[in-house]
Amino acid sequence: MNVYDADRLKTALLDRGWNETTEDKADVVIYVTCSIRAKAEQKVWSEIGRLENLYRTRRSPFVAVVGCMAQRLGNAFMSRFTNVRLVAGPRNLGRVPEGLEEVIKSRKTRLFLDDHNELHDLGCAPIRRENPWKAFLTIAHGCDNFCTYCIVPYVRGRFRSRAPEEIIEEVRRLTDDGVREISLIGQNVNSYGADFKNGYSFASLLRDVASERKLDRIRFYTSHPRDFTRDIVDVMAGNPKICPAINLPIQSGSDRILAAMRRGYTLEQYAFTVKMIRDGLSEVAITSDLIVGFPGETDEDFQASLKALERFRFDLLHSAAYSPREGTVASQMQDQLPEEEKKRRLNEVNRVQSRISAEINKALVGKTCEILIDGLAPKGKELLQGRTATDKVVIVEGPESMLGRMVKARIDQAGNWYLFGSLLPEKSSAVGDASRVG
Ligand code: SAH
Ligand code: SF4
Repeated sequence: MNVYDADRLKTALLDRGWNETTEDKADVVIYVTCSIRAKAEQKVWSEIGRLENLYRTRRSPFVAVVGCMAQRLGNAFMSRFTNVRLVAGPRNLGRVPEGLEEVIKSRKTRLFLDDHNELHDLGCAPIRRENPWKAFLTIAHGCDNFCTYCIVPYVRGRFRSRAPEEIIEEVRRLTDDGVREISLIGQNVNSYGADFKNGYSFASLLRDVASERKLDRIRFYTSHPRDFTRDIVDVMAGNPKICPAINLPIQSGSDRILAAMRRGYTLEQYAFTVKMIRDGLSEVAITSDLIVGFPGETDEDFQASLKALERFRFDLLHSAAYSPREGTVASQMQDQLPEEEKKRRLNEVNRVQSRISAEINKALVGKTCEILIDGLAPKGKELLQGRTATDKVVIVEGPESMLGRMVKARIDQAGNWYLFGSLLPEKSSAVGDASRVG
């Protein structure tokens, strides 16, 4: 979500005549911030502190803090640092371009926070993206779920779906710009449309986006297990463009903890949804999120989470140690666990999951898959990186001219997080259309 917000903000600013440059030449450095855990916030504090030293001597660059941390802490940035001159929450990004120009002209400070749940959105697509072939697209803002550990509803405000026409228009702008794969994003994509009260649902949106001719692949994040319905599986099964990859955050394997988290499902209800997905889609990757060390998590609860990992065998897991967030219900609960214990449990979870992911990946060796080549591999010359429909990274040898192409590859080798493959002859590529990408 922050990549999407940052790319759109960049697009809006460049369109207004700003230029992107290095920190030593910049008038302003903008931080798009995250509040999900304390660690994400600590990085921002230390970065601003580092720039504060420069600002004391040169009066530049000044700092703009946008996103969730801006909304959460507001004025605290101005009182702590002299270099922070603009602060804007996620619902106020649309006011940032003009705000920055005012700050430059008047040397005033500007604070745009969400007090009345009003949305000042940026009216542009993320055209100045990091990745030319892939883009994110927010389909709904905010979240109304208030899971007891989570800061999101407080900083991103009430749930609100974007109009389908607006989303389709953005899809077209992106595909005209060479995008082949779009990830539809929201905190709970399954409840998309619930606020329209006219029957138009997430499944309807998926169907409409999939009918966009120029688009090759559609993904979506994040699905809330409580709201994942069969109609989504049905649309996916009938539409090869919709990638069979689902992030379904479990958060805990213990019913007692799930209730304390206020997730709205039990382990068996979660299992029912997983079965529905696996029965309905022949080849599907399910990934998940898990929190360890939630207040009051006993060893028995923790063992239940480990057991859930073995039971569901997720392709990938985003694991995190519970981080108390000010103002949330869970941060006030008794029995907060010591940091060392949370860390120990996190290591244990990661150890179990690495083995499972490696086993799943090994079973793919010898198989053929279609990948979208979307970048250079992080290490090694002439190595490209692609993704399967199930969102697995495949490293292949090939020339840079293959970037942005949909090609077939055979999997030769598997690691915990990467697959290594070789490209198959071009004629076997089903949708490779090099003329469409720049
Ligand atoms: N809307 C998504 C998750 C959004 S937050 C959902 O409902 O699943 C992304 C992930 O961050 C969560 O899945 C959770 O695992 C993690 N997370 C959120 N708050 C956290 C906290 N206080 N401490 C540790 N991890 C947290
Ligand atoms: Fe946070 Fe997700 Fe729960 Fe919303 S549904 S409160 S974003 S964890």
